[in-house]
Amino acid sequence: MKILVINSGSSSIKYQMYEMPAEKVLAAGIIERIGEKQGHTRHSNVQGNTYSEDKPVAHHQEGFEIIARLLMDKQYGSIQQPEEVFAVSHRVVHGGELFRKTTLIDEAVKQKIKELFPLAPLHNPPNLTGIEVAQKVFFKAKQVAVFDTAFHQSMPEKAYRYAIPHSFYQEHGIRAYGMHGTSHRYVTNQAANYLQKPLEQTSLITLHLGNGCSMAAIRGGKCIDTTMGLSPLAGLMMGSRSGDIDPTVPYFMGTKLGMSFEEIDQLLNKKSGLTGLTGSNDLRDILKMSEGGDTQAQLALDMYTYRIKKYIGAYYAALGRVDALVFTAGVGENSSYVRWHACEGLENMGIRLDREKNECRASKIIELHSGQSPVKVLAIPTNEELEIARQSFELLK
Ligand code: AMP
Repeated sequence: MKILVINSGSSSIKYQMYEMPAEKVLAAGIIERIGEKQGHTRHSNVQGNTYSEDKPVAHHQEGFEIIARLLMDKQYGSIQQPEEVFAVSHRVVHGGELFRKTTLIDEAVKQKIKELFPLAPLHNPPNLTGIEVAQKVFFKAKQVAVFDTAFHQSMPEKAYRYAIPHSFYQEHGIRAYGMHGTSHRYVTNQAANYLQKPLEQTSLITLHLGNGCSMAAIRGGKCIDTTMGLSPLAGLMMGSRSGDIDPTVPYFMGTKLGMSFEEIDQLLNKKSGLTGLTGSNDLRDILKMSEGGDTQAQLALDMYTYRIKKYIGAYYAALGRVDALVFTAGVGENSSYVRWHACEGLENMGIRLDREKNECRASKIIELHSGQSPVKVLAIPTNEELEIARQSFELLK
């Protein structure tokens, strides 16, 4: 069964085509800067033939037509006709409380994704555009939605509610939803397999540390708490997002500094976090700056790792017992510095990293703990596309 996995953003479409259940990647690519003066297309197939072109791509419809053409191309493609694609699986960021699991798309589902626009104004609209265009280009294929929030729908009410009057939740859906669910779910399953423990008996803290960062407390394969909230702004410090902040700060910025809602939103989402403190959102730059004696870069690293450590403590308490910490995504898989400093001082909680084992970049599952560590520490490369393909296959088979 050929499943085309789509991640449709406001100006880009990323895709991977899988042969399932073999989990073989037949083709992958990205179309970037859609709607801008200079677009960019990159594509490769299983034979390793790579196509790259700089040419404007006017809109998502054109983007999908390019993808279909490349998938069927004699040299670069993997199929002869669009009908060979059995399903197109779409990453949809926000499923609110309406979607707890992977769902076959029909008109009613599209309408509900639209109703959720206010909760994810930057993400759900381009996700829906991707669905509508894919329906036209791959008209025979089933369309499936995999929601980033779905994995976190198992949180108990005490974890997801905010302490504000009930009506804000009941009438407007204001609560924590959590994000990166597909990644947290993928590494949870990988970790349970690796630990050779039934999923129902595992107790894990997963740390997705990329440009966006979130952590989750997972008991028996089900999320019981996570750091992101109504939006991806909450929780850990990130590449360009502030993470947790006293809600009075935006109020102060508005009333005392005369900033508009728009400006505050931009500041906290795009100009804060590592970017706000150092000028760069890339941890590699910041590590170099700090090695060169830049005290602001060092402060940013201290804040970044301190906040992760605080949440490890919080989630340990929430879970009561932890089998493993699981580091994943760009920073989690690659940065020995962040892992070391996030876990330093937690030895009495049974978390003991091995300095040498930790000096690695994880291209497969790697153990980072010392022999005597009661809590295992793993680095597991995430694979959200594969998780989306797996869930769609489970639904459709
Ligand atoms: P992601 O969003 O998962 O693609 O992660 C992207 C981030 O991972 C980049 O912004 C970098 O900060 C970080 N990253 C990637 N490679 C490394 C590395 N070797 N060491 C430290 N950080 C890294």
